[in-house]
Amino acid sequence: MTDRFNLGPPPLLAYADVTIDRAAHRRNDIAALENASGAAAYCVAGESVVLRKVGDTFDPLFRLDEVRSFGPVHEQVFLGLAAGVPRFALSLDPAAAESLKAHGRHYVIDLRSIAVQGLLPPDQLPPLAEGKAMLLWHAKHSFCANCGTRTKVSDGGWKRECENCKTQHFPRTDPVVIMLAIDGDRCLMGRQARFGTGMWSCLAGFVEPGETIEAAVRRETLEEAGIICGDVSYYATQPWPFPMSLMIGCHARALTTDIKVDTTELEDARWFSREDAAAMLTRRHAEGFSTPPRVAIAHHIIRAWVEGKADVG
Ligand SMILES: [Zn+2]
Repeated sequence: MTDRFNLGPPPLLAYADVTIDRAAHRRNDIAALENASGAAAYCVAGESVVLRKVGDTFDPLFRLDEVRSFGPVHEQVFLGLAAGVPRFALSLDPAAAESLKAHGRHYVIDLRSIAVQGLLPPDQLPPLAEGKAMLLWHAKHSFCANCGTRTKVSDGGWKRECENCKTQHFPRTDPVVIMLAIDGDRCLMGRQARFGTGMWSCLAGFVEPGETIEAAVRRETLEEAGIICGDVSYYATQPWPFPMSLMIGCHARALTTDIKVDTTELEDARWFSREDAAAMLTRRHAEGFSTPPRVAIAHHIIRAWVEGKADVG
């Protein structure tokens, strides 16, 4: 691989570099954790996160009683210990978050934009992803899937229990394969209609029950673009709390080259040369094409192949 395909130091893969100790053995010790010195909480309101303005920067952490003073709090989750200090996520009623905007001391913004715009230090992103996904799980799973009774939260927010039928419910993560099919010196990218102008990305789809990661990669690539794949290699994973996915990044060796786009999934799909992909990653493509932002795993999967670091291709 020549130097022209060395794109320099790797960018941050958002939400992935977890440093918090989840301290699961403390999840039944919530009163003591709440009252511990320095205990702090993220304030999540639906898809948004409340940040405190500190000069030109932002602080995502509040005292627990401070969040409760903002308005109704629906759920609370103990995220773990950050340097030994308890950290929580609280779900604030979205209407209360809206009213905070009016005072000018807070900034209310979605978590994806926080990562893309680099508004917070990187180590704040994994616990925020953890908290947002957990709170959304609570919001969507308040009732027992077995008998329909409203369930009660336990284990510091990590379990819901049904007092009627005694079923226990645990938070879920939805596995999604996201892959770059490779044909020699070309890679396959697709466009969804909702993408911004000129943006192309890896293909992706949910892993189905009873399916391996490799089989999901091959099935999704065949379904969406009509391309048959052989070898599949794992690259990396990224928690993706929109709403509660785990993105499983892979490279795959294409065995066929004739693209047949499933237009219910994609607007278009096409092969791109390594030169094209490098220009798209660095926002220098002649036609204005680009890849997803640097914080997203799709960017890293494409970049790894461009730099000759993919096990397939
Ligand atoms: Zn039940």
